[in-house]
Amino acid sequence: KRRIGVMTSGGDAPGMNGCVRAVVRMSIARGCEAYGIYEGYEGLVQGGKLIKQMKWSDVRGWLSEGGTLIGTARCAAFRERPGRLQAAKNLIVHGIDALVICGGDGSLTGADILRDEWQGLLKELVSNKELNQDQVEPFKHLNIVGMVGSIDNDMSLTDATIGCYSSLSRICEMVDVIDSTASSHQRAFVIEVMGRHCGWLALMAGVSTGADFVFMPEKPPSENWEAQMCSLVSKHRKLGKRKTIVIIAEGAQDRSLNKIPPTKVKDLLSNELGLDTRITTLGHVQRGGSPCAYDRQLSTLQGVEAVQAVLDATPETPTPVISVIENKIVRKGLIEAVKATHEVTNAIKAKNFDRAMLLRDAEFVE
Ligand code: ADP
Repeated sequence: KRRIGVMTSGGDAPGMNGCVRAVVRMSIARGCEAYGIYEGYEGLVQGGKLIKQMKWSDVRGWLSEGGTLIGTARCAAFRERPGRLQAAKNLIVHGIDALVICGGDGSLTGADILRDEWQGLLKELVSNKELNQDQVEPFKHLNIVGMVGSIDNDMSLTDATIGCYSSLSRICEMVDVIDSTASSHQRAFVIEVMGRHCGWLALMAGVSTGADFVFMPEKPPSENWEAQMCSLVSKHRKLGKRKTIVIIAEGAQDRSLNKIPPTKVKDLLSNELGLDTRITTLGHVQRGGSPCAYDRQLSTLQGVEAVQAVLDATPETPTPVISVIENKIVRKGLIEAVKATHEVTNAIKAKNFDRAMLLRDAEFVE
């Protein structure tokens, strides 16, 4: 009977519980046992009570729960080989030879490193006399399957990461709330949204709420953006608009890669245009709470596919990541996806903004 471990790692995202639920139930449906690994890589390194078998009913009601009920953590120990040696031992002690991980590119990279080192780690466990040859014999290969959980939608080779549409919905809801008070007093609001190095949340929130101006890392504004923004906002006001909404990504920067702080935008709107301007940092309301219907669906379909990918894997199969492309659930190479993601960040660092937008599939923005 195969034993499949499931864990969530990195930043939490709505829909992660849906992944765990789907992996647990699909594993059981396919005659395997499922194990929950609690607190991300911390659970793998510490083992003991942090690795628990999960039954069908253990994940009842999880689809609509926000965050991750099996916990997540940043784990420094797993970044070093001794931590991964401990992780390998804990997996073998629990009889687990396949891991499904829902996390960001850091977490997925870490998992693939573990898989790469697997044979070496087993040899070391035997030569250290931590385990004997008979114990490691059945665990020749470790199967890893990745699923991308992130509110930022910052992973390449997938159209949507699990959690990004829940976060986008929450942002839109919050901007609508602010809209009503802004209109009443004819105020301007500079709204900072999350996304780390990715502008997807900011851009899509701008499109979805009809914001006046959007700042995002991949496409910094023109050199004279101060004048450009002010003239656009005053044009909108002259057309009768009673409110101004500027959305700024947390990673927003200018063409010289200097951070654009929300205070700078606020000062411009106040001092140049005389608008009563406030800053709202949406913060963690963007992260928590119940997943939207799309994230429930995506996490379930991807969880099912992840277990299927575990069962299909041969020792030669490169580690897959489960993606969604043009509405189809597909498998992509994990390493390729991580590499393509880094290419976007590199393009931004090299100030090759057109390429960054192209790689983000957002070249439609002018
Ligand atoms: P995310 O998965 O959201 O990108 P992080 O980059 O913080 O988040 O990674 C989460 C955890 O994954 C880290 O705390 C660490 O335990 C593990 N991890 C990340 N990168 C690596 C790596 N290069 N090697 C080993 N483990 C890693």
